[in-house]
Amino acid sequence: MCLFCKIAAGEIPSKKAYEDETVYAFYDIAPQAPVHILIIPKVHIESAQALSRGDDALLGHMFEVARKIAVENGLDKTGYRLITNIGADAGQSVPHLHLHLIGGKTLKWDN
Ligand code: 5GP
Ligand code: ZN
Repeated sequence: MCLFCKIAAGEIPSKKAYEDETVYAFYDIAPQAPVHILIIPKVHIESAQALSRGDDALLGHMFEVARKIAVENGLDKTGYRLITNIGADAGQSVPHLHLHLIGGKTLKWDN
């Protein structure tokens, strides 16, 4: 099992932000902003590049969870960023699809 599969299964502890049958969300261990939460599918998908049409409902649900977490943290009014890194050049360090939900401050964009 990969690191995030183990986190979703509760085998590695994490600070939970949300959970249901298909999605788990938890606080990033190295936050880049006042709010930094990772939203993952419980099923192992390597990255957004590995998605297929069969994952449409799951992906839509991940965004629904992101909106819910944003509201809970008051970020729907101030704004926030959703990022998913894919592969080496993007710096993906965990090969399990995840949305970074980042907010709580004015974010810079420097790549
Ligand atoms: P990536 O670089 O793959 O887009 O994002 C992986 C993220 O997972 C990083 O922001 C990193 O801080 C976070 N992370 C890595 N290992 C752990 C862990 O064991 N627990 C938690 N909560 N976050 C982790
Ligand atoms: Zn996994």
